[in-house]
Amino acid sequence: MYKNIPAVARTVYGPGSFNQLGDILAPKRQRPEDFMVFIVDNYFKGKELETRLPVQGRDMTFFVDVTPHEPTTEQIDHLRDAILQAQGLPAGVIGIGGGSIMDIAKAVALMLTNEGSSEQYQGLNLIKNPGVYHVGVPTISGTGAEVSMTAVLTGPKKKLGIKCEWTVFDQIVLDPTLTATVPRDQWFYTGMDTFIHCIESITGHMQNTYSQAYGYKALDLCREVYLGPNSGQNPEMNEKLMVASLFGGLSLTYSEVGICHALSYGLSYVLGMRHGYANCIAFNHLEDFYPEGVREFKAMAAKHHIYLPQNLSRNWTDEQIEKMTEISLGLHHMWSHALGPHWQEKITPQQVQELFERM
Ligand code: NAD
Ligand code: ZN
Repeated sequence: MYKNIPAVARTVYGPGSFNQLGDILAPKRQRPEDFMVFIVDNYFKGKELETRLPVQGRDMTFFVDVTPHEPTTEQIDHLRDAILQAQGLPAGVIGIGGGSIMDIAKAVALMLTNEGSSEQYQGLNLIKNPGVYHVGVPTISGTGAEVSMTAVLTGPKKKLGIKCEWTVFDQIVLDPTLTATVPRDQWFYTGMDTFIHCIESITGHMQNTYSQAYGYKALDLCREVYLGPNSGQNPEMNEKLMVASLFGGLSLTYSEVGICHALSYGLSYVLGMRHGYANCIAFNHLEDFYPEGVREFKAMAAKHHIYLPQNLSRNWTDEQIEKMTEISLGLHHMWSHALGPHWQEKITPQQVQELFERM
């Protein structure tokens, strides 16, 4: 069976395209009582972008601080309840921020029309009703959350996405000028999420021409951004990284992520380590599996003076490492993509534990 993948219905791309958001939302405001919910990264509170939000009438704006933790099921349930109790069902939800905010917006849009806790819907095709119209506006490039069909949430039992055809945004607005203010370390960690998506997607057993076409192009763009003559955070490179993120997401949609992501999920679940950073910590030690990719990754980190700590595992307990290993090995699809259908004969829990101990 080939995957039958849903896609973002509409995309606006280009520097300054954020200014079109008001016009894009206008047709969705059909009745006088219709209102929009803007979920915005708290970084933008009090900044110029706040004054440019096309807010009107009964619209609600939530500034969400994503720094304490990655999105949780509890957080989604609270937001949903707050919206429904205050004003009922909105005409649309607009997420403006990085992967965290985009995932929150996707999950809230779905949970507004599905009963109970978002915890119940972590998994594939568990959602019963389509969500409300939702728009994604990335302000940092790399996760591919703008095109993916999942909203990754940490729940009481697992870190797993709400994944279904209705998770995908109805509209995205890709304005690379919004990423100009991303701190350098974060620009590296989240940008490397794309680089690693592509390396993993094009090297495993599920690779195919579709995922390679997007993956190779995204890798070329990443090389320009992180190693090329005009490398760095500047308008030209910010455009390239935004497109790389999109293509990286499309590449893995028709393939799969691999060992780095399997380990990274273990790190995030047990230590609360953030996705992009956890990927970098893990990938730094995966030269046995992705020799070329890891070599390039190290060159990129060195060029941008990114310090990746070593010997972190000295401070982890045996129980923590065991739990990381368990979480990681639970992601069968990633291991099977990376090592083949008989992956369990190729990697033992002991070897995975040793990979964590290298970090
Ligand atoms: P993020 O959204 O967690 O944000 C990281 C930091 O960057 C925050 O402090 C935020 O305030 C700041 N920030 C964002 N935009 C900024 C800007 N323009 N200027 C200054 N600061 C800015 O970062 P991320 O790496 O984009 O997202 C990580 C999250 O994405 C994780 O929760 C991960 O699980 C999720 N993810 C989802 C998918 C998916 O397909 N749905 C894929 C990969 C990762
Ligand atoms: Zn990722």
